[in-house]
Amino acid sequence: MSDDLNENCGVFGIFGHKDAARFTYLGIYALQHRGQESAGIAIADGSSVKCYKAMGLVSEVFNEEILAKMKGCLAIGHIRYSTTGSSEIKNAQPLLVDHYLGSVAIAHNGNLVNTQCLRKHLEEHGSIFQSTMDSEVIVHLLAKAHGERFEDRLIKALKQIKGAYSLMVLNKDQLVAVRDPHGFRPLCLGVLDGAYVFASETCALDLIQAKYLREVEPGELVIVDRRGIRSLKPFPRARPAQCIFEYIYFARPDSLVYGKGVYRIRKNLGRELAQESPVDADIVVPMPDSGNCAALGFSEASGIPFEMGFIRNHYVGRTFIQPSQPVRDLGVKVKINPVRDVIKGKRVVVVEDSIVRGTTSRTRMQNLREAGAKEVHMRVSCPPHRHPCFYGIDFPTRKELIASSHSTEEIGKYLGLDSLGYLSMEGMIKSMPYKKDKFCLSCFDGKYPVRCSEKPIPKFG
Ligand code: SF4
Repeated sequence: MSDDLNENCGVFGIFGHKDAARFTYLGIYALQHRGQESAGIAIADGSSVKCYKAMGLVSEVFNEEILAKMKGCLAIGHIRYSTTGSSEIKNAQPLLVDHYLGSVAIAHNGNLVNTQCLRKHLEEHGSIFQSTMDSEVIVHLLAKAHGERFEDRLIKALKQIKGAYSLMVLNKDQLVAVRDPHGFRPLCLGVLDGAYVFASETCALDLIQAKYLREVEPGELVIVDRRGIRSLKPFPRARPAQCIFEYIYFARPDSLVYGKGVYRIRKNLGRELAQESPVDADIVVPMPDSGNCAALGFSEASGIPFEMGFIRNHYVGRTFIQPSQPVRDLGVKVKINPVRDVIKGKRVVVVEDSIVRGTTSRTRMQNLREAGAKEVHMRVSCPPHRHPCFYGIDFPTRKELIASSHSTEEIGKYLGLDSLGYLSMEGMIKSMPYKKDKFCLSCFDGKYPVRCSEKPIPKFG
């Protein structure tokens, strides 16, 4: 993807390992692609919960000295993306609160859609919020809920919220993993030396050599404590709405998401794209890194040779993803550069995973022409994005999405292309391991499984 589009968060949790803090550090390290603004770990030792978090990448936030002080066998971790306005430490997670029933820490991936009215109601009844995060509503609801056991109060709180949440909840001696009834965001379960491990993606399990067991199912609560592991399904059944965009762009290609390998699915998308939208070209060039697998599929199906015509600079720091426009423009040139020797005199077909605003793609296509490309075509491995996301992906507003107000032909002209083709909705679904009714497709078709009656809160936790 040429435009910066960001997942909000990644979550990780472990129960029953003496090295819980270090494994959580490694787990969120593997999930760094899901958020780069802040990182945090909360740890419990059976009598209390402590938390350390700061702005920055996981490797910048934690060091050996900090991890050595984090004693305990239960931990949760979180990495977060945000933009200006809410890019502050008070919005970093895990969120730790103390109340008369004990300390609770939560780490949330996703976005809730009814927190504005819940928050107003809670504030009118005396709750004092520390942050602007939607996730904080959950802990206030938890504090007010009645019930004998912790899980009873948690379920009562969760029944009041709507939207997307894959949650890790930690108290002094319990770890609870929850996925919302629609299953918008992924969450998997693994095991390591008898300790249970949860993560947004299996790449986090791989890094610590945990064995993948299964997905946490939509609407499932998995509770781990000294009595063992239990599963509850306390919510009414809801229509499944797993984010399809995890398969297209967000997740790492070496991960399993919703139980299936991302790499193979991305290749399928590329193969389908080559069949639907063929083009006469000399080379297939991926937009690195997210277009790599789809470009491989496109090349295999079309017989056009695959070439790394763009090289990504992997050492560009966060300076170049700051949201101010002048810096963003500079970032376009610094992050990805065309390989003149590969491009010169060639008819190039670029495989992209999506076009959001189109501004960055336009510069990149100009760079290809400057590098001597004879023709520049683009093929996109999903349908046009015409609608915003309310469930945890940082999409621009509808107005900023180029496909919401321009035809494919107009976009192709704006990008300076010889031709542009998107994968159809049918082609995208055909490439997936599940049927259409298992997915959220809202950013493509504008049909929202959970209505957002409120104006979207731009950034959350
Ligand atoms: S709207 Fe798009 S990005 Fe958001 S959850 Fe649905 S499929 Fe994913």
